[in-house]
Amino acid sequence: MKKQHETDLKSIDKLRRFMLCKWREELACLDEISTEDIALHIQKAGFRCLRCGACCRSEDGDNRVFITPAEIDLISETHDMDLEDIAVPCIDDILSSSDNHQELQSFIDTQGNLHPTGWILRRRFNGDCKFISDAGPSSKCRIYNARPGLCSTYPFHMENMNLEICECPGLGMDIEWKECMAIARKVIQRYISELRDFISTYEKYEYFSSSSKGYDIYLRRLSEGKSICIVHDSRGISKGFLVSDCEGLRFIRTV
Ligand code: SF4
Repeated sequence: MKKQHETDLKSIDKLRRFMLCKWREELACLDEISTEDIALHIQKAGFRCLRCGACCRSEDGDNRVFITPAEIDLISETHDMDLEDIAVPCIDDILSSSDNHQELQSFIDTQGNLHPTGWILRRRFNGDCKFISDAGPSSKCRIYNARPGLCSTYPFHMENMNLEICECPGLGMDIEWKECMAIARKVIQRYISELRDFISTYEKYEYFSSSSKGYDIYLRRLSEGKSICIVHDSRGISKGFLVSDCEGLRFIRTV
């Protein structure tokens, strides 16, 4: 068992070093990205935000908004809210592996603590973003001026040095060149911030051991409706409880 654990740690460490190299290389090659080229792609796709709120609601699919600690700080300062009101640990991918016990166990330490990486915006029980105003013809974001980069650049983002475009009812609409350039600048800025955040997260990552005993503790806590999470992000780790309240899942920080 010990040998298996050492092998797992070695392969995780190998993957971590590979991803760190990749992200550092991408950061170093950013000069090769032309804002005009990105703007041309955006112009070709066409886009106008219809303010339909489809990207904020769950009915059209994955509406998770990944958010960095710096973005959490901005919302916190401008809207006088705590981390607990804004974000929850990113656990969806972990929980989706819950029918594969071995995979799920690799996210749980010997004391039964769950180890997610990063944060997403809080969502209501129905899956909609907590910050979208109630359903209606003109959806409003209640944190519009401080909304995360993912929201302000949707449906565009950069991946592996290329522009990627997600589904959106506003695609195909006429757009002025000035607007294409403004979006292109924001998309590139977001790419830089995300790469820096990924790199810091994995440079600071604190590795842990797993065991079947830890897994049993985790399952017991889960049945009591209270899991302990140790969240890894670009600033280090945050420890707290994961509970459900009337607004959805909530993280209560203890350290
Ligand atoms: S923060 Fe605002 S723009 Fe982003 S998903 Fe939530 S409601 Fe939509």
